[in-house]
Parts: sequence; C-alpha cells; structure tokens
Amino acid sequence: MTPALPASEGFSYREHRLHCEDVALDTLAQRCGTPLYVYSRRAIEDAYAAYASALSGRSALVCYAVKANSNLAVLDVLARRGAGFDIVSGGELARVLTAGGDVQKIVFSGVGKSEVEIEAALNAGVACFNVESVPELDRIDAAARRLQKRARVALRVNPDIDAGTHPYISTGLKNNKFGVAYADALALCRTAMEKSAIELVGLGCHIGSQITEIAPYVAAADRIIDLVNQLEREKVAIRHIDFGGGLGIRYRDESPPAVADLISALLARLDARGQRDKTVIFEPGRSIVGSAGALLTRVEYLKPGESKNFAIVDAAMNDLIRPAMYDAWMNVLPVTPRREEPKRYDIVGPVCESADWLARDRDLALQPGDLLAIVSAGAYAMAMSSNYNSRARPAEVMVDAAAAHCVRRRETLAELFATESRVP
Ligand SMILES: *Cc1c(COP(=O)(O)O)cnc(C)c1O
Repeated sequence: MTPALPASEGFSYREHRLHCEDVALDTLAQRCGTPLYVYSRRAIEDAYAAYASALSGRSALVCYAVKANSNLAVLDVLARRGAGFDIVSGGELARVLTAGGDVQKIVFSGVGKSEVEIEAALNAGVACFNVESVPELDRIDAAARRLQKRARVALRVNPDIDAGTHPYISTGLKNNKFGVAYADALALCRTAMEKSAIELVGLGCHIGSQITEIAPYVAAADRIIDLVNQLEREKVAIRHIDFGGGLGIRYRDESPPAVADLISALLARLDARGQRDKTVIFEPGRSIVGSAGALLTRVEYLKPGESKNFAIVDAAMNDLIRPAMYDAWMNVLPVTPRREEPKRYDIVGPVCESADWLARDRDLALQPGDLLAIVSAGAYAMAMSSNYNSRARPAEVMVDAAAAHCVRRRETLAELFATESRVP
C-alpha cells in the first residue's frame, strides 16, 4: 500500500518508489546525501499559474513572498513566469535582484525597515513600500528627500479580522504588531498626501498565514474598500489594493479554498463596490511553494522505548522548525514503503532539545537506513533553518522533469565558523 498524494504537488509513487516529478528520491538521496530539500519546479509553476490565470484580464500583480523560500532558483523560476516579489529586508531585495527579478514588481513589507534598507530600496526603484507606522512614513519621506526621489507608498492597514489561524501566524488582529490601526488609517493617508517625497499609491492588508477560509479575506477586503471609498469621497485617488498573502495549504486534512475561488470572491467584492479599476496585488508565499517541496531524511537509529518508539533521523529542528515552533503536523512518507507490520514512532532528530521532534505517533514500518520524505516542506522550512548544534544546513535540489539541479550545495563545517575568530 502506497499512500495517495495529489498529483499537482509534484510528488508521487511510481512502482512503490516516491518520486519528485520523474526523479526517484532514493536515487537522488544516494547522489546528494541527506538531509536534502527537494523542490518540484512544475509544482511551483503550477501554483503561480493558478494565481496568474485567476487574475487574467485584470490589472494585477502576484508578488511572491520571498521569506517562504528564498532560494535563488525558486526566485528565478518565478521571475521567469513574470512574478513580482514581496520582500521584508534588504537581504531579500539583494536576492531578488540577483535572481533576475523585476525591481518594478517588488513591494517592500515589514514593520522594521532600517534606514539602510529604505535607501537601498529607493535606489533600486522598488514599486512600493508597504508602510506600517507613522515614524516609518517619516523615515521613508526623509530618505527620499535626501536621495531626491519620490517614494511610492501603500498603507498596510490592520483590519482587526480574526483569520482563525495559529496565534503566531495571525497578523490582522488589533493586538498584533502589524499594520496601522484601522481607526488611524485615514488620518495617516492624509499625512502621507502632505509629504513632498511620498506618493500614496495603495492600501493593503495581510491578515495571517495558513488561512483555510475565504470569509476572513472578504471581511478584510470590505474594510479596506470602505477606506478606499472614503478616500475617494475626499478626492484622494489610489491605484492599488493589496490583499496580502496567507492562503493555506493541505498538510494533513485541511481543505483550503482553491486560489481561483478566493480570487473570484475578492474580485466580485471590488466589482460590486465600484472598485473594478484598481490594480490588485497578492503576496502569496506558502501557497506557491509549500506543497512543492519535501525534506528527505534517513533513519539513523530505531530506539524502542517503554511508552514510545523513537525513529532518530538525520534531519532535525534546525533543518525544519515548524513542528517545534508552531506544533505543526507534517506528513511523513516512506520513500520505498516496506510490507512489514507498522509500529508507532515519534520521528526525532539528533539535536539536544526535547523540542527536536519532526512528527509524533506515526505508524510506519522502518529499518535503520530507510529514507523518509517529510512532504509539504517547501515553505518556511529551509528558509527558517539554522546552524544550531553546529549542524551544516542541507543541500537543495530543484527537480525539473527528469533533471535534478543542485541549487544549493550542502554547507561545509569550515563554512560554519568562517566568519569567527579566536581572541588575539
Ligand atoms: C509572510 C507574509 C506573506 C506571505 O504569507 P504566506 O502565508 O506565506 O502566504 C505575505 N505578505 C506579508 C506582508 C507577509 O509578512
């Protein structure tokens, strides 16, 4: 029995071997070692195409949220399809430019943009700053005047909507640090209008991540549209509305809405409320890359316990922190399933922390040396990795049909401390 997988995700069993597109993962692990991140180019492109096609015929921009997975190859694949990018740091700006992204399609989000980052973004000529506070607006205005430029700005409003997601990834509630308080938004727009080096071009929101319902998006959209209508009554015209990212993917049994259904619901609200002429922006991260990636890991030891069996694998919380950080459930699949009776295991890593677990209570038939694939690991996985316990981070492979391109080689131990030194 091999578990069924949705074909669109790029991973499937063929003759009892798990494949990414046309590449057998056991062969790939042999060639590249483990732990290893594997991405399906086709799955990334299909996920982007779902947004692009749902928006065809509209003035729209799909800005991939770089923080979900910032590998240059991922950015490259998306840039070639015409994607824009949502960045949250100067580092991400540099990555997008290096990967061939179009600077005129970059929106710059984040609550803590530094002076250096703002200047870099102004010099590069990003499409827009998503502004989250009055002092940030002042700082951008001052920087733009210094550089004799005008900064295009959109206000990120906190619509105070409960997206019904994990508290750590909910961002649109009053008590979150994100966005301008709804009640202050109009006043801030008026302030922005008065600043000589600021051009107010949009309004937006981003209410959270791993959202599995359409309703909170529509509620947030209505609140933003209320503001846009109010501004228009005051003869203030803006060009775009940004609905943020946050659409969920299926990790276990979630059933998030289809991209097309989400987008048609939002476009319908715009049309119904006289805002059809606005450019719409989306900032999807997880829903572009999440299902397109897997983390391959090898079983080092089986450790039977009194109350639990442990499978100790060569990947750890430093490679994939979602379980430790968000209590996330990740699907674990055997790369070449065995016919023996399964036993119940916790899948854990070698790191010296009890939080170092990857999956709990999984029924698997395992032997030391077996390969496991932790699927739906394309987003917030490698991007959140660290070198904790002085572990070199995994390599990354982009599979394209029968080809497997190494898009990040495994770190060497010398690289881990190359920037450090002993005392004189
Ligand atoms: C994280 C983030 C996104 C992407 O969120 P996903 O849940 O990965 O789609 C989009 N916009 C902003 C401002 C973000 O912080």
